[in-house]
Amino acid sequence: RTVYVNGEFLPEDRAMVSVFDRGFLMADGVYEVVSVLDGKLLDFEGHLVRLKRSLAELSMDNPLPDADYLTVFRALVRENGIVDGLIYLQVTRGNPGDRDFAYPPAGTKPTLVMFTQSKPGLAEAPAARTGWRIISIEDQRWARRDIKTVQLLFPSMAKMEAKARGVDDAWMVEDGLVTEGTSNNAYIVKNGTIVTRALSNDILHGITRAAVLRYAAEAQMRVEERSFSIDEAQSADEAFVTSASAFVMPVVEIDGQAVGSGQVGPVARRLREIYLEESRKAAI
Ligand code: PMP
Repeated sequence: RTVYVNGEFLPEDRAMVSVFDRGFLMADGVYEVVSVLDGKLLDFEGHLVRLKRSLAELSMDNPLPDADYLTVFRALVRENGIVDGLIYLQVTRGNPGDRDFAYPPAGTKPTLVMFTQSKPGLAEAPAARTGWRIISIEDQRWARRDIKTVQLLFPSMAKMEAKARGVDDAWMVEDGLVTEGTSNNAYIVKNGTIVTRALSNDILHGITRAAVLRYAAEAQMRVEERSFSIDEAQSADEAFVTSASAFVMPVVEIDGQAVGSGQVGPVARRLREIYLEESRKAAI
């Protein structure tokens, strides 16, 4: 695989980052994941806008002009023959010097890494037909979940807990209300109304969320942006999650209890179809 590091395209075994890099020592970095379908990028613009917001929130320099991100993404897709898959992009604060809690001086070059992951048939995931089973877990992440940092240890712990309990994922709960999934935004459907938590610092502002809510409104579906509890989710008609890599993924069981019929519901199925169709059309 060819990867991109700080302006160079290199074979993956020759791509190196300093042991003093603050991404490595302090999780001082942000990332994005963009889907590729049929060799084209989904929601590219949205991911770029969010990347720049994450960088600005952490006073980190943007390492590339906007147009260059698209050029590098396309070069990696071509170079690695990606038909369906993901592009991972990470910017860390770099650091040529010693370990220190204070940021390095302004003008220090950030570290920029991008690589592809091939996922043949990404849009035809068999799980989309059966749905995910999930558990709930107390949300123990830091309070700035709107910044897409590489500090992913708690979501990893939650994912491992889900695995240990034989299910697909976990929804995190704070003050009795669902924040989001380990790596996705969470939704329920009741009497045809789609309910998802409103944007704030408590959750990541999902790019797929924004697209799905837009398509739902265009299709005259009712949407309410408000918080909900696990109890409410368990008595909903449907549940689902969205993310750049899972698109719209139905959730059919929460903490051992079936949601609605326990089968994939019509709203989640339809939103998945609409999302895939519309974002393929808009892909670049
Ligand atoms: N919430 C969290 C915590 C995530 O990690 C992700 C995926 N990176 C999402 C939501 C979904 O965001 P997006 O639709 O932009 O992939």
